[in-house]
Amino acid sequence: MNCPYCRNPDSRVVDSRVADDGVSIRRRRQCTACSRRFTTLETTSLNVIKQSGAAEPFSRTKVINGVRKACQGRPVTDHDLAVLAQEVEETVRMSGAAEIPAHQIGLAILEPLQRLDEVAYLRFASVYQDFTSLSDFESAIAKLREERSDLPRGNQRPLTAE
Ligand SMILES: [Zn+2]
Repeated sequence: MNCPYCRNPDSRVVDSRVADDGVSIRRRRQCTACSRRFTTLETTSLNVIKQSGAAEPFSRTKVINGVRKACQGRPVTDHDLAVLAQEVEETVRMSGAAEIPAHQIGLAILEPLQRLDEVAYLRFASVYQDFTSLSDFESAIAKLREERSDLPRGNQRPLTAE
């Protein structure tokens, strides 16, 4: 990265720390020519391998767009979706791999979406996990109910609050 002041391509790192988002590294650099300091934000590349085999850079926006459809008419805000997408990114980055199969992104979406809204979760899961019959829904709902009975009382919301 060129020095933003004098365009010199050489700099040395004087400090680095993990940024607030937990997935990038903030480096304090000093230009070897003019000695001025500047900050860079580095994020390791993360590619999603689609079913076709094509790779594309991971995008939170794509995660949000994928989930937004399932959230139509549900009390889910843009902020909720942004937080979910960040959580998904952190989960997939945690694996440390530079390439992630698209399938794994879907898996990483299911858990936070279930916490966010159970109806949206069911919609998303029905598409993503290819539900083909009512009994697929029934078993998914039974599983939700089961998991919910583990929750302390007061944390329970009605499953179908349309
Ligand atoms: Zn410089």
